[in-house]
Amino acid sequence: MKQILWFRRDLRIKDNAILANAKDEVLPIFIFDTDILDKLDTDDKRVTFIYESVKNLKNDLRALGLDLEVFYGKPKSIFTNLAKEGFDEVLVSADFDDYAKNRDNEIEKIIPLKRFYDSFLIEPNDGLKADGTPYKVFTPFYKNLKYIWQSDALNEYDSISNIKNLKLADYKFNDILSLDSMGFSKALLPDFLNKTAYEILDEFKDKIKNYTKGRDYFYLDNTSSLGVHFRFGLISPKIAFNIVKKFYVTDDEKEFFIRELFWREFYNYILYHFPKSEFENLNGINVNWNNNEEDFKAWCEGKTGVALIDAAMKKFNETGTMHNRLRMIVSSYLTKNLLIDWKWGEKYFASKLLDYEASSNIGSWQWAASTGADSVPYFRVFNPYLQSKKFDKDGIFIKSVIKELKDVDSKLFHVENALQEDMFVEYPKQRVTIDFSRKRAIEEFKRANNEKN
Ligand SMILES: Cc1cc2nc3c(=O)[nH]c(=O)nc-3n(C[C@H](O)[C@H](O)[C@H](O)COP(=O)(O)OP(=O)(O)OC[C@H]3O[C@@H](n4cnc5c(N)ncnc54)[C@H](O)[C@@H]3O)c2cc1C
Repeated sequence: MKQILWFRRDLRIKDNAILANAKDEVLPIFIFDTDILDKLDTDDKRVTFIYESVKNLKNDLRALGLDLEVFYGKPKSIFTNLAKEGFDEVLVSADFDDYAKNRDNEIEKIIPLKRFYDSFLIEPNDGLKADGTPYKVFTPFYKNLKYIWQSDALNEYDSISNIKNLKLADYKFNDILSLDSMGFSKALLPDFLNKTAYEILDEFKDKIKNYTKGRDYFYLDNTSSLGVHFRFGLISPKIAFNIVKKFYVTDDEKEFFIRELFWREFYNYILYHFPKSEFENLNGINVNWNNNEEDFKAWCEGKTGVALIDAAMKKFNETGTMHNRLRMIVSSYLTKNLLIDWKWGEKYFASKLLDYEASSNIGSWQWAASTGADSVPYFRVFNPYLQSKKFDKDGIFIKSVIKELKDVDSKLFHVENALQEDMFVEYPKQRVTIDFSRKRAIEEFKRANNEKN
């Protein structure tokens, strides 16, 4: 048996399904896919992060007697060439978004493809209702999987032991191309991306004690920051689960965090069972979006006239990161107050978000827009002024991003138009007033829902 082990979103050697299930002769590979890369900015931080991770993976595999061939090009033509070298099959960790599914279906026509499910805790057909259909609401989905999240430890693949049984295929391995020769420059990464997932989890051992209360305060650093490492599989979710289960904190504290991990599972399960949700409103309502391009531009650039929204978007543009509560607030503002199609926001996030994951991003945007599975009810529209008052009372976050506002009385951030009315402050006019835009959204969503029923 001659197998290609195609690493994609599983850039690790521990608890790795393709390494654990490989046998006989193997060729481990990674592809810098030009179909994806050609759409990215040349200083995309994610490319630098993946590049470093691929280099580490190559070193780890070499230390265990294997190697990694790194290609740059289109998967289809790379596999067409590899097929001539007599490989029997390709082993992969499954991916569920539309691009990935089409790509894999094409490759399958060239060499048989074997899919494994180790990037999530559950397989997509786990946790169906008694009648075999998928849940659309998180809580019953989660309760039904109690047998998983209540266990003390989940079985990991013993991939490292299996490596000893493998033989490297006869192949002339090349050095990895430089970032530069792929048309990218090395980007400066935020500190947490220079740490391993294990170092991050070790720091989280203390942070988790305050996670339940602190996770919503976006000026604090109280969440795990594991999203990017999960996205590219630098740690498997099972290993993270098992480590967290051993933390010396109460079961409630652990469970609160593990429940969040299951939102990632839920959105992946939703995308798998409802693939059209990548392109359409999952609940089938037909919203007459306002889709004003100037409003969208102002939102993207952080120039809406609402200090909290602007600070969140400015920081996002600079760093590619955004705290979960801020993601909820800016997505609500875009889809409800500005009445702009969630797909515009989803696409903008996808272009920059370091932890961009199609399933979580699509699911969360549809949640915010009240068009998805278990969404926020359409009549509950976040008020960004009340959100900043509650979660950034002293304006610590806003001032840290918008330096021109650093000496402003923080109370002004929490009152509509207060910045614009203050004679000592110059701040852009709001695009819409909160009351008008809230009512406009509620009426439109009410109409769209009634029309559907
Ligand atoms: C509009 C919008 C878009 C989003 N886009 C993405 C995305 O592209 N990729 C992504 O991983 N998450 C996305 N999220 C979910 C969430 O914001 C991030 O997972 C979280 O902020 C990552 O930070 P953390 O690792 O510190 O999270 P923690 O609070 O430490 O949570 C631990 C892990 O649980 C998972 N998780 C937590 N909350 C959620 C959630 N609500 N939905 C799905 N998974 C969750 C993530 O894998 C996260 O890394 C989005 C949320 C919103 C509202």
